[in-house]
Amino acid sequence: MDKCSFCGRSKKDVNLLISGTNGHICDSCVEQAFSIVSEDGKGEDKFNMGELSIMKPREINDFLNEYVIDQGDAKKTLAVAVYNHYKRLSQPESNDDVEIEKSNIIMVGETGTGKTLLARTIAKMLKVPFTIVDATVLTEAGYVGEDIESLLTRLLQAADYNVDAAQRGIVFIDELDKISRKGDNPSITRDVSGEGVQQGLLKLLEGSIVNVPPQGGRKHPDQKMIQLDTTNILFICGGAFDGIDRKIGQRLNTKMVGYGVSKETGQVDRENLLQYISPQDLRAFGLIPEIIGRLPVLTHLNPLDKGALRRILVEPKNSIIKQYVKLFAMDGITLEFEEKVFDYIVDKAIEFKLGARGLRALCEAIMKDAMFDLPSQKLDRYKVTLKYAQKKFDQSNVKRLRVA
Ligand code: ADP
Repeated sequence: MDKCSFCGRSKKDVNLLISGTNGHICDSCVEQAFSIVSEDGKGEDKFNMGELSIMKPREINDFLNEYVIDQGDAKKTLAVAVYNHYKRLSQPESNDDVEIEKSNIIMVGETGTGKTLLARTIAKMLKVPFTIVDATVLTEAGYVGEDIESLLTRLLQAADYNVDAAQRGIVFIDELDKISRKGDNPSITRDVSGEGVQQGLLKLLEGSIVNVPPQGGRKHPDQKMIQLDTTNILFICGGAFDGIDRKIGQRLNTKMVGYGVSKETGQVDRENLLQYISPQDLRAFGLIPEIIGRLPVLTHLNPLDKGALRRILVEPKNSIIKQYVKLFAMDGITLEFEEKVFDYIVDKAIEFKLGARGLRALCEAIMKDAMFDLPSQKLDRYKVTLKYAQKKFDQSNVKRLRVA
């Protein structure tokens, strides 16, 4: 009896059985095969390098400016790095022996200053697969946690399991500082969260063929692995590196008190030591030299001052305030704010040490009642005054958020 060579069903159980030289295929297997083929095709199109129109570094920078306030140095660095990444991917085979090597990046900056935002914004404009992963979940093979290779699972997923596309992708590794070696001296005891993980990561950064578990998590023997070559994957790392300013300070041989002079005068601006960061500070913090060597592009993010926070509130393309205006517009209400409200919110963010991340919670506290009441009222215009904002803030329990 003739049977489908794919699903095994016999001729009488299917509508149509097509015969080939050495086997048969039924109508439903044909349909399934067709959908697999067309899915595959879509994946190719999405990341087709042939059609890539490469944005120039200035254009990338302009794009970042629409969403991210300040952080000029980091923006410039990322713009160049991403541009060069595209160039590397499209470099023609040549016989001049000049091969453009990739330059992985490390961004150092206090938490909440825009590292992830930069990475996400870059992702919006990218034509290559992109993923953000957190270094804190990684542990050395054999310990509880995720294997290093699982970083690449996420990239594979972002590429719809198109291996070629994933091999040209970009991975943002957040919280790299959390896998630094504890203490300056290599310890004889195993440092599960530190050096071992860095060694594992090193393999990925260097460029090698890696076995990736398609579903992530931990590897187990029966799982089928997907092989991925990391040579062309660009890695961007970020971390707060809390306390690294002291290492920088020590290196610069400054006392931590008594300075306050600007960069222009050639003296150290102790308010923002991060701007002087160099690879040796990363080493003093506990990254192994090999990792540092594989992250040749080092950039920093500045702390956000009052002016920056105020701009963050209103200026970015999808700023928090613009989002409220849009929400109310959907109810036919034109929402306005007294300028002083913005200063008030920023002052509270600073007073409570909430940073940019706290702006949203503060706005919610002030806007909650208005969002509750106004849609049921016949209003076409509403202005949030300073007095209203102060009252709503005082009534709210947002003070619980205060950072000690
Ligand atoms: P990090 O990754 O450095 O810890 P994030 O990028 O996650 O910080 O920032 C937290 C939030 O604060 C962002 O989602 C964004 O709303 C806001 N934010 C922080 N820095 C900036 C900035 N430079 N420009 C605009 N918004 C910012």
